[in-house]
Amino acid sequence: MVRSAAGDAWSFDLARAWREPPALATSRTRRISGAFFLTFGGVLLMLCAPLVPGSHAAHLWRFVAGAVAVGSAVGWYVLGARAPRWLFVALLVTVVIGVATLVRTAASSLNASSFSACFLLPLTAAALLLPLRRAVLVLLLTIVLGSWALHTLGTTASDVVMRAGCALGMFGMVAWLARVADGAHQDPLTGLLNRHGFERRLEEQLARLERGGGQGALVALDLDYFKRVNASGGHRYGDRIIVECAAAWRAMLPPDALLSRYGGDHFVVMLPSTPLGRAADLADRLRAAIVEGTTVSAGVAAWQYGDSGSMLLNRADVALYDAKATGRDRTVVYGDPERAASELESAISNGEMRVMLQPIVDLPTGETVSYEALVRWERPGRGEIAPLNFVPQAERTGAIHSLGAWVLAECCRLATMVRNSNRSIGVNVSVHELRGADYAENVRRLLEEWALPGEMFIFEVTESVFEDEDPQVALNLHGLRALGAQVAIDDFGAGYSSLRRIELLPIDLIKVDGALVCTIREGHDVPILRAVVTMAKSLGVRLVAEHVENEYQAATLQNLGYHLAQGYYFGRPAIP
Ligand code: C2E
Ligand code: MG
Ligand code: MG
Repeated sequence: MVRSAAGDAWSFDLARAWREPPALATSRTRRISGAFFLTFGGVLLMLCAPLVPGSHAAHLWRFVAGAVAVGSAVGWYVLGARAPRWLFVALLVTVVIGVATLVRTAASSLNASSFSACFLLPLTAAALLLPLRRAVLVLLLTIVLGSWALHTLGTTASDVVMRAGCALGMFGMVAWLARVADGAHQDPLTGLLNRHGFERRLEEQLARLERGGGQGALVALDLDYFKRVNASGGHRYGDRIIVECAAAWRAMLPPDALLSRYGGDHFVVMLPSTPLGRAADLADRLRAAIVEGTTVSAGVAAWQYGDSGSMLLNRADVALYDAKATGRDRTVVYGDPERAASELESAISNGEMRVMLQPIVDLPTGETVSYEALVRWERPGRGEIAPLNFVPQAERTGAIHSLGAWVLAECCRLATMVRNSNRSIGVNVSVHELRGADYAENVRRLLEEWALPGEMFIFEVTESVFEDEDPQVALNLHGLRALGAQVAIDDFGAGYSSLRRIELLPIDLIKVDGALVCTIREGHDVPILRAVVTMAKSLGVRLVAEHVENEYQAATLQNLGYHLAQGYYFGRPAIP
């Protein structure tokens, strides 16, 4: 039997509610509710200040506190939409502490009791808008501080317990209702966001992207021939496939991704902070991760500044439709590939490409021994575009050959500039270029034209090269080495290298991926980085550590036996 992930209409997934806020906790609701309870509490305090018994100073103190709350409400309303989530928690904690202070300074226990009613404002907001693990902290703080303040003013223990119990009951009821109401945003079968919930959260994510100037992409996924699956295996079987897909995909996505069962066998994933190329690769992996015997088509679209959620969904749907129309079981990226290729080619001929150099240093001496060449696209009106946003697309459209040829020629020009310093230049090469029959021969001709020795060049290839079945790739690598150039495996440790193939192919250097280097922290062991040193020694290759960002990492790597390093600590990529 297929178990629904979301259960019946009155229950909710406690583990999820513990981690995640309810769907109604958007930056908008946080902003409005924060401003609301600050204004409400503040105005109440200002109005009541002269009426409550106490000294003149106490009246003035309460009036000022009320005015500060109203002022903070205005500030929160203006800036609250941009505030990170933790700031909302900090606001609630501050308000709880403020109310406890107010209660503590009341003239009588009766007075303190009426002030303590203000605790309900932050408590309701916490129950409605925070994940339970944070909301419970606000609740505990409220009960502890509130009980203490009331108790020190002589309120009887039974009264204190009664008030704490009421606060607890109210909190529990509001928190439960908010989670149950979430059911309206959730798909009962998979427990994922449904269409309504997704569209709501999507607009929020896009607003955040627009403010932060980030990049994002949306993937639309649709099971192929799902009607047939249902017809042949029955609806129960169809449901099981849907539930299994949802579970497999949920486990593979980054934590900030938004996955939704948009309807039937149609899923969508919003990937903020993911460039188009990476989103397309992820779509391929999602497609590969489903139940054997079924296939999925995917459409991917990049978010562009100013896009609304429906524009983005629309583009991903157009790409998905293309994937279905051209045979299914594939990923299609939105945008006419020919147009994309010609755009890049005209960018090259219009001089919009730049090559930056980043130093690679010898760890023991700290001297720069070579540079890595990193391409950038200075797109008029769009600013500088990083390679991960156009290289994968260039690989898909074939424009990578023109781009690679341009980069290589530019590297030759730069090599003439660094020639006297005896430094070499690392050039990133795509496996698509290495599949070309005459790649090594073209390099030879170019070096001859510029009168440069092959020894001045290092060709950086990613691990995926070693999985490539095409024998031409290995031939080209041998050809490059015959010219005197070195070959480096780039981003080692980020993918799945076949160690056997590494042994067989011609390699001089291994560039260890930043994902491994960033595991270096004080008090943590680094067994993988240590093992890589042993492996490199027995293969007779040198190691370059990538993404070295601080002195501690550099020192640790040197102690481990790494020879070379590259990263912001030594120098960022710069125009030479
Ligand atoms: P890569 O070859 O691994 O290049 C290193 C990347 O790490 C560069 O990103 C560099 O700016 C970044 N980086 C360097 N030091 C640090 C650090 O300390 N911390 C962090 N977080 N990052 C650091 P970039 O320039 O965005 O290039 C990304 C990738 O694009 C490159 O990865 C390479 O695979 C590809 N690429 C760049 N230029 C070319 C090219 O001309 N042709 C081809 N085919 N691919 C290229
Ligand atoms: Mg590289
Ligand atoms: Mg790298």
